[in-house]
Amino acid sequence: MARYTGSLCRVCRREGLKLFLKGSRCYTDKCAFERRSYPPGQHGKGKRRPKVSNYGMQLREKQKVKKIYGILERQFRRYFSIAERSKGVTGEKLLEILERRVDNVVFRSCFAVSRAQARQIVRHGHILVNNRKVDIPSYSIATGDVIQLKQKDKLIKDVKETMEAVKDRGIPDWLKQDSQDLKVAITRLPRRSDVGMDIQEQLIVELYSK
Ligand code: SF4
Repeated sequence: MARYTGSLCRVCRREGLKLFLKGSRCYTDKCAFERRSYPPGQHGKGKRRPKVSNYGMQLREKQKVKKIYGILERQFRRYFSIAERSKGVTGEKLLEILERRVDNVVFRSCFAVSRAQARQIVRHGHILVNNRKVDIPSYSIATGDVIQLKQKDKLIKDVKETMEAVKDRGIPDWLKQDSQDLKVAITRLPRRSDVGMDIQEQLIVELYSK
């Protein structure tokens, strides 16, 4: 599947906030946004961010969420259609669907420094869901699922180091982690309130409702 391969730090600078796309580097003073919070490009420095139209704000919000979860337009649109057909508030449902992706669960469990790394772990077949290999990052988890890393020495060592490095991030309470066996159980489905990021999902709903 195609994916964005450009500079991740550029995305944060474009959106005007830290999106934590690079993992542990994002928490250090090497963070590009900390050093250069103005927009990227030769005209970015010294200029105030231009006033953005309503449409511009809606578009930027959509781009931001796509970049956070590492999703391209077609799949994002598909998630939106599912959210629209679900009971409840469409914008909240959209975020809940995104949170249920198995790559996001690997990231939220602190098994990876970033969602990009989590996706790679899944793609390389290192994840078992209910004892069966799952190598599709978009796989949607359900309540009661148990996600486990394959017992490979190198992988276990790397993941344990990662867990130590990102332990301050914490694990959401819809996940129950067994840090010894590197397992995580889904105790309930994630809710909008679990997302914990500055996202105005209503803008995305407005954009797609035009
Ligand atoms: Fe964004 Fe992380 Fe790059 Fe900082 S280091 S600009 S938070 S991706």
